[in-house]
Amino acid sequence: MKVLLIDDSPDALAIAKARLRKDDLDVICADNGRSGLEIAAGDEKPDLILLDVDMPEMSGFDVCKKLKEDADLQMIPVIFLTGSTDIDDKVKGLDLGAVDYVTKPFDAFELRARVRAALRTKRLQDLLVEHARIDPLTGLWNRRALTDRLGQEFANIRRNGGSVAFVMADIDHFKRVNDTYGHRIGDEVIIRVAEVLIEQCRQSDLPVRYGGEEFSVLLPDEPLESAVAMAERCRKEIEKICVNFADQEVRVTASFGVSDSSGANSPEALIESADAALYQAKNSGRNRVVAAGAGVEQSAG
Ligand SMILES: [Mg+2]
Repeated sequence: MKVLLIDDSPDALAIAKARLRKDDLDVICADNGRSGLEIAAGDEKPDLILLDVDMPEMSGFDVCKKLKEDADLQMIPVIFLTGSTDIDDKVKGLDLGAVDYVTKPFDAFELRARVRAALRTKRLQDLLVEHARIDPLTGLWNRRALTDRLGQEFANIRRNGGSVAFVMADIDHFKRVNDTYGHRIGDEVIIRVAEVLIEQCRQSDLPVRYGGEEFSVLLPDEPLESAVAMAERCRKEIEKICVNFADQEVRVTASFGVSDSSGANSPEALIESADAALYQAKNSGRNRVVAAGAGVEQSAG
């Protein structure tokens, strides 16, 4: 795990770094609050921040306030490093949202033990956050994860350009499956469809269970045509799904709508546009892929 050490004293940085390396931690150092905040907000977020209280310009308390105000950074635990044994300082640090404090000069074992404890809690917190974003039946991402990721992708497109494609899928006549064979078979079908999506996704794609029998896939940096081709591969694989029920074979098909960010300037518009294409796929006979805008019918099953 990664620990960011912010302290204006080169000696304190060197000592803390040497101690933490014994626990195989990746330690990054900053000698002032401003550069510490920059590193924290960078691509490789730290799992824990050790923060000196007494620093010129920006004190550790100021840095902590900034961290806690930032939605992206507020979950990173902070341990204050303080030369003061003043109880008011310790209380102030904890009230600002720090999880702990360590008094300088560091005891050989205390610093490492407190860091290990904070990282244990951080790992559990990460697990909880991740579980809140995963659909328990299929293991796919849920709608909350999609909303977060779409927000990031559109912010990135506004800053750096690029594009994102989006696929919306719906199992055809799914209600019939549930009504005829029961929910256990219905669930089995949903799991098998999810497996198809996972198989067809790249590492960077985000396969999502959007709702009951609705799925979506977010494809960063892919043109519309590639997303259409991916949806077409999924469509063909879903046709092959066969779930056994008593002596019957349960088979399903799915319809797809595909959109991309060239014709949509917000996450909502991207979803709406794929949704409209999906509606068109349903209305023109199901088991097909329709791309938004051009209204290109890629296939008919
Ligand atoms: Mg200092």
